[in-house]
Amino acid sequence: MFSFNNPVEIKFGEGIFTRLNEFVEDFGYERIVVAASGSQVKNGVVELIESLLGSKVREVVTGIEANPTLTNVESIASAMYEHDAHAVIATGGGSVMDAAKAAAASYMQGIGADELFGHTDFTEALPIIAIPSTSGSASEVTPTSVISDKENGLKVPLAGKGLYPKLAVVDPELTFTCPPNVTAVSGIDVICHALDCLGSIKSNPISDALAVRAAGLAFRNLEAAFLEPENREARRNMSLGSMLAGVAFSQTGTTASHAMSYYLTSHFSIPHGEACAFSLDEWFVINAEADSRLHQHAKDIGFEDAGDLVRRFNELKGKVGLRLTLKELGIGQEAMEDIAEETLKQANMKNNIAQLDKSEIVQLLERKEG
Ligand SMILES: [Zn+2]
Repeated sequence: MFSFNNPVEIKFGEGIFTRLNEFVEDFGYERIVVAASGSQVKNGVVELIESLLGSKVREVVTGIEANPTLTNVESIASAMYEHDAHAVIATGGGSVMDAAKAAAASYMQGIGADELFGHTDFTEALPIIAIPSTSGSASEVTPTSVISDKENGLKVPLAGKGLYPKLAVVDPELTFTCPPNVTAVSGIDVICHALDCLGSIKSNPISDALAVRAAGLAFRNLEAAFLEPENREARRNMSLGSMLAGVAFSQTGTTASHAMSYYLTSHFSIPHGEACAFSLDEWFVINAEADSRLHQHAKDIGFEDAGDLVRRFNELKGKVGLRLTLKELGIGQEAMEDIAEETLKQANMKNNIAQLDKSEIVQLLERKEG
């Protein structure tokens, strides 16, 4: 038995973004707070939203950090209170969408941003319209939001049905201005989401089909999107792959590569996608040893087996400028025990097919020392 439910309405296509007012009017939202990344302000997308929606836009909140903080969440939530908002539009990468989602929950449930971490019931939030400007996080179709507590060096994933956006407007043209380094770190995350999903104890035939398709699209198109930012086909396929992987992991959760990534990001400032991609090769092979279906999935993606897939994955990482070893990341041997401990603490680690103990995770890290 399995079940599948993703309630996000998805509008996908080049140029679809210009129909935003029509979509907003269908929902009847009249007072809107916009949360936007700095790049969406710079490249004119925010201005375009304001001209499309007119007086419906009551405030634009910017200045959201790459790993969104409780302060960022608070600033969006206070704009919601101030304007008695009907909805929030989030445009940018995963950081902006995650911050807007957390703010939407904090506002609707009447709790302060500082209470979010202890909160477990994310069933309600102000309606969210998510417009991604990168291909990777897939926050536009997932019920999760990852928020950082800088003071305590924490990165905390929040999850609940209320965090699903009402509408995802996925327009590949909005990713044309995404710079190559961001294309690389966000695009590699598409493969991490897809393979984490295949390695989840919660995977099902629908999530498997979506994840296999998403991984294939990202493997075949990431390098072209990285080298030629305006390659329409590559950008379209990366946007599609990202969204499909997101719908897949909205059901299964992410697994070990993400569990290991949080500490790498919060303590060593490794960008999210690169932090996940760091250990993905090891986990995929370990999971394939525990469950041979992963070899078949690797075949379906276009490789000989799991080993062949991870060799090609590491080649691709090299081609798009991502680091492969702890040495390259500037992390010494003395951090291994802490990385292992923190990985085991993460809730999504429990989703992973293979369960390793601390010493086995340290061995994994030793193989990646470089
Ligand atoms: Zn991710």
